[in-house]
Amino acid sequence: MITKEGTCLGCRSVLRIDRSAVRHNVREIYRFSGKKIIAVVKSDAYGMGVRFVAPLLRELEEVEAFAVACTEEGVFLRELGIKEEILILGGVLPEEIEAVKEYGLTPVVSDPEHLKVIGKEDIKFHVNYDTGMGRLGFIEEIIEDPRITGIMSHLSSPADREFSTEQISRFSRIVSRYRGRGLKVHLESSAGLIYRVPFTTHVRVGLALYGERPLRDYPINLESAVSILTRLISVKEVPKGHPISYGRTFVAPEPMKIGVVAFGYADGLMKSLSNRGYLLYGSSRLPILGNITMDMTVVGLEGTRAKVGDWVTVVGKERTFGDLAREAGTIPYELMCNVSSRVKRELI
Ligand SMILES: *Cc1c(COP(=O)(O)O)cnc(C)c1O
Repeated sequence: MITKEGTCLGCRSVLRIDRSAVRHNVREIYRFSGKKIIAVVKSDAYGMGVRFVAPLLRELEEVEAFAVACTEEGVFLRELGIKEEILILGGVLPEEIEAVKEYGLTPVVSDPEHLKVIGKEDIKFHVNYDTGMGRLGFIEEIIEDPRITGIMSHLSSPADREFSTEQISRFSRIVSRYRGRGLKVHLESSAGLIYRVPFTTHVRVGLALYGERPLRDYPINLESAVSILTRLISVKEVPKGHPISYGRTFVAPEPMKIGVVAFGYADGLMKSLSNRGYLLYGSSRLPILGNITMDMTVVGLEGTRAKVGDWVTVVGKERTFGDLAREAGTIPYELMCNVSSRVKRELI
């Protein structure tokens, strides 16, 4: 059953993805970098819902390819009808090689074992260089193989200009040894875009697609593309001295109007925001009172006319994942990936 707000019966929380904001961000990234985009949509498009995000991105001419973490995510993209190149950032394990062939996926090779798995198969692949990320990638070994169609590296500390510059020059030396083969070359993630690396052919971007700024001073004019709304399921007055939620970590200092929203840590609101963060009712800040629980969170409604059934903003234009992450002592990526499947996804 569809209600006026467009949500289905029983869905008390909704995550809305604004198509025009995503389009705007893709264009701005392209305008700034001058390079086609490999859209990183691993982990269900950072928890935003790859079923919605990937078909939207592939309509945009600035998006040339996709990247996911593992083979299974790549297969899922093909089943969604994605025809573009799909990079598997996390390499290839022996039991995955049949699917890689069948679905035409492009593994990123970061280890001699990945090369062995590929063996003599007719599979194109990219090679990853560890220029200072200290995770996946060859340090400097040059691979001679005609099936290579791209090479990549990844910055470990994009906010650190000195170290990133060093990584970029290391990668530059590696790239020069592959010169003349017409390979795709990619390094910049959302934060890395600030380096405008002259010798890469593509950028490999995830976070910025949603309008989240990866750095404090970010030169690209992004528009927030995601909002999460939830509903008030109860409103009441509590007397002075009344405890709130598990563990009674908050006690009303005076009589208070409180509300309960249908959004808890099972929906993705980190428990570390208990007694710290706030939600929004229109432009009014609703402080989170007491411990966040699995399905519900108590908020202060003092000074509002909020009533049962009203919508409360968890994330929106005025309040990004980045803002909430700062309060929770984490990064926007983690908060985004934590939004559970119970929160209904909608494209608007
Ligand atoms: C996740 C990831 C990206 C995308 O990073 P964003 O900061 O979201 O733009 C790029 N490259 C690699 C190797 C990644 O793992």
